[in-house]
Amino acid sequence: MNQTSATPPAATQRGISTRVAQFTESVIREMTRLAMEYDAVNLAQGFPDFPAPDFIKEAAVRAVRDDINQYAVTWGDPELRAAIAEKYRRWYGMEVGDRHVTVCCGSTEAMISTLIAVLNPGDETVVFEPFYENYGPDSILSGAAPRFVTLRPSAGGWSFDRAELAAAFNPNTRAIIVNTPNNPTGKVFTRAELEFIRDLCVEWDCLAITDEIYEHIVYDGREHIPMATIAGMAERTITISGISKTFSVTGWRVGWALSPERLAGGIRKVHDFLTVGAPAPLQIAAAHALNTGDDYCRRLGADYAARRARTIPALQRAGFPCASPEGAYYVRSDGTPFLGLCPGEEFARWLVREIGVATVPGSSFYHDPARGAAQTRFCFSKTDATLDAAVARLARLRL
Ligand code: GLN
Repeated sequence: MNQTSATPPAATQRGISTRVAQFTESVIREMTRLAMEYDAVNLAQGFPDFPAPDFIKEAAVRAVRDDINQYAVTWGDPELRAAIAEKYRRWYGMEVGDRHVTVCCGSTEAMISTLIAVLNPGDETVVFEPFYENYGPDSILSGAAPRFVTLRPSAGGWSFDRAELAAAFNPNTRAIIVNTPNNPTGKVFTRAELEFIRDLCVEWDCLAITDEIYEHIVYDGREHIPMATIAGMAERTITISGISKTFSVTGWRVGWALSPERLAGGIRKVHDFLTVGAPAPLQIAAAHALNTGDDYCRRLGADYAARRARTIPALQRAGFPCASPEGAYYVRSDGTPFLGLCPGEEFARWLVREIGVATVPGSSFYHDPARGAAQTRFCFSKTDATLDAAVARLARLRL
């Protein structure tokens, strides 16, 4: 008997790290794969199925032809960093320069690079729940422990209990993650709410790390207010955004973190060793879009409002109770009677298989999956034809 094969070397028995074993794969990305497998209409992952605007595509083609095809400066092509800083000055009156900008592979990488750069094991973060699922694994990877504060729906929109938020802060708290406009609730944080969060950040000497990727998708005359513009927060805020949602180019992976200069060096180092840099020609195209796309950005809310108007009454008629989001491009249904067809978390997988519509199960937005088990998230960043096809398939649920 071959003793060596009976006792393989220890290394071959090793598996994944305890850190990585603490989280599962992304349910949002899994739902897109399932949609492809079952040829379902994909209202799961948040990306448009309509073309990106010509002006950004043409700029990308030009950049490739001009041979902008090698590494850009690690923390971002100077042209793009200047365009980003100029955009924040123009739109929000922020006093920032290119030294504050780190260009990353999407806001996803900007978020994880930031968290790794500013958090230590044993630190705590405050995260509003429901939350975009990345913040969970991001916190684990950075070694910090998230503390969740509940966002609750009410007639006047989603809100949080101020006492509950205040109680989440303690001497270990280093940062709060604020996603506005919010995924999945559609909440747009008000100035009063941001000021309340500011007071807590000052009291506990914390950073605000914001995810503002839906900054131009707000409805009904609402205004997106960057946390960094709240008095006293410029020095405490890392503003994360990108071109993905605004210009319908989620596959390009161009985003950024805008931070106080004292933090930019750390974020840039993490970013450099994670990815070296975002795609060089697409950075040049992004700079062009930011420099010339203000009117396009101003029209975006109205464009998405029309998609929202098409989607929500149709979903309600199909039997999914849902309310209008204030921003972003998701609608969340709570407690459809069809959930009884299939137990809680499995409903979304059943829906994609049997009805041919992919959604995201509400459970992926909660640290305790049971809390979201009655919820379903639909993305309406889709053509009319896609939205209509989804609704027609959902109508079969009633039969
Ligand atoms: N933000 C998108 C969503 O919630 C997904 C983004 C991604 O998959 N990277 O669906």
